[in-house]
Amino acid sequence: MALKPGVVSGEDYQELVQACKKGGYALAAVNCVGTNSVNAAMEAAANNNSDIIIQFSNGGAEFFAGQGLKDSFQAKVLGAVSAAQHVHLLAEHYGICVVLHTDHANRKLVPWVDALIDHSEVYYKAHGRPLYTSHMLDLSEEDIDKNLNECVRVLKRMAPLGMSLEIELGITGGEEDGVGHEVDEHADNSHLYTQPEDVLKAYEMLSSLGHFSVAASFGNVHGVYKPGNVQLRPEILRNSQSLVTKTHNTPHNPLNLVFHGGSGSEKEKIAEALTYGVFKMNIDTDTQFAFSESVGQYVEANMKAFQYQIDPVDGTPYKKQYDPRKWLRAAEKGFVARLDEAILDLGSKGKTLAK
Ligand SMILES: [Zn+2]
Repeated sequence: MALKPGVVSGEDYQELVQACKKGGYALAAVNCVGTNSVNAAMEAAANNNSDIIIQFSNGGAEFFAGQGLKDSFQAKVLGAVSAAQHVHLLAEHYGICVVLHTDHANRKLVPWVDALIDHSEVYYKAHGRPLYTSHMLDLSEEDIDKNLNECVRVLKRMAPLGMSLEIELGITGGEEDGVGHEVDEHADNSHLYTQPEDVLKAYEMLSSLGHFSVAASFGNVHGVYKPGNVQLRPEILRNSQSLVTKTHNTPHNPLNLVFHGGSGSEKEKIAEALTYGVFKMNIDTDTQFAFSESVGQYVEANMKAFQYQIDPVDGTPYKKQYDPRKWLRAAEKGFVARLDEAILDLGSKGKTLAK
């Protein structure tokens, strides 16, 4: 099973998801905010012969367009389009498969997703493939019927373009770009665990319409918190899979599951989740820190170059040190190194389907 390097969609994407589940590994889904992080994600994938998912939150997309743009909604749309065009142009040259995806969209952000599907429709007419591989809807704040009815509407739009939909059932703790929930470390936090019955309902409403995946909550939390009383319970994923299998007599692990809030998780729990059909794990907090930590170290080691163009005492020119390419490259290297680790943890090293 070999795929052409570059951005994948439609049946190629479905093959990629199947290969992950059969092989017991997952792809890192990396939140990016500009060409530095996008290129570093592709560099890490290429270094490790791994396929990769590049994704943008609404805020990440807006930042990609530039914060000087006045119309924030327009920036979220055009930033996501610009980022996708950049990846379509370059991905094949990195020699790996790239999945293009957008992260959490709550009710207020549904128009953002619809506008991006409009762009994919136009792109599809010109190129025979969509601009994005998949989008996420996160209506987990709403009741299950409202959540799933909207997912049905959006998946019906996406399926003819070969696009996939990621949905959220149950609540991922913490916050991602203003979408999410504070974690109360003293509450019982039962709302942080998805009910397998809800997953079954999603399967029944969506599986005949098109390809979809489920971000199920099993105690995962966005961001890194001090160890509290939120426990990862991956068996919730197993129970959801087996309820669908039993009810509909499907093959093993029929659902495509997504792991949000993986930063800071115990490695054994990640490994366990992978055996239950998780093909995608989001990484943001840890790569954000790696990027910034590397800049911090560079600044510390070259402090004078950030204060003087020429040394006031001995006249040494600092141009080579303050050139933004120097410290941005240091940031990219830190980002790549953190992804090397994630790719190893997720088992996707050496597994690219690109030939
Ligand atoms: Zn998330």
